[in-house]
Amino acid sequence: MCAVCGCGQAGLAGHDHVHGHTHDHGHHDHAVTDYGAGPAGLHVTGLSQARTIRIERDILAKNAAFAAVNRARLQRLGTLALNLVSSPGSGKTSLLVRTISDLGKHWPIAVIEGDQQTSHDAERIRATGVQAIQINTGKGCHLDAHMVGHAMDELDLSANGLLFIENVGNLVCPAAFDLGEAHKIVVLSTTEGEDKPLKYPDMFAAADLMLLNKCDLLPHLDFNVQACVEAARRVNPQMDILTLSARTGAGMAGFASWIAAHAPPPHHPG
Ligand code: MG
Repeated sequence: MCAVCGCGQAGLAGHDHVHGHTHDHGHHDHAVTDYGAGPAGLHVTGLSQARTIRIERDILAKNAAFAAVNRARLQRLGTLALNLVSSPGSGKTSLLVRTISDLGKHWPIAVIEGDQQTSHDAERIRATGVQAIQINTGKGCHLDAHMVGHAMDELDLSANGLLFIENVGNLVCPAAFDLGEAHKIVVLSTTEGEDKPLKYPDMFAAADLMLLNKCDLLPHLDFNVQACVEAARRVNPQMDILTLSARTGAGMAGFASWIAAHAPPPHHPG
């Protein structure tokens, strides 16, 4: 459950907001049910707007306190933490497996995996030989800093290493939750819409790097890379953007260089 988006709140499924308003429910080509410009969920939680805002503020303030503790701990260790966010199916886990095989000889690497259910992704990561902790969020749609702090307790984090956090596949809620990471990395794949940065701007605004994955499929798709990059730049002009394929390895050297530019000096320089 997430009071920030209201996704797990009672009343959502019942569509119990007040009717008799002027918007319609999709009977016209241009019909849009617009819940306004404020934070999402205010109209659907069954709570008053003031109370919902208070709950959101409390949750995010508590999260920020845990994130600050995580960040201080990571800084003491000299460990670079990267929070990977995306829709489900963009290839985050495959990208991590490839990245570990490329960089594991230079830095000690640990991984925190977030999914609603199963430990499939942590098992895939552990098969590469690095430590991985799986967090199952149940109904939750994002990792929070408290969960990540506990996962860090369970990991034997080496000094001056890399910690990858693979968030729950969701382009909305993870944008609001600082986990104590140094950078959010948003992964978008060529099988998705090139206008996703415009549809989900909070996530693209929060990220320092966008990885456009599955570039090996471009010859088979109508995906317009230039339009996608322009959409991303409109939302976040400062964001770095790299195109790659975790499957073939194309462009992975660029991602390795980006990490090296932000990471502590490698234990075993290549
Ligand atoms: Mg995954």
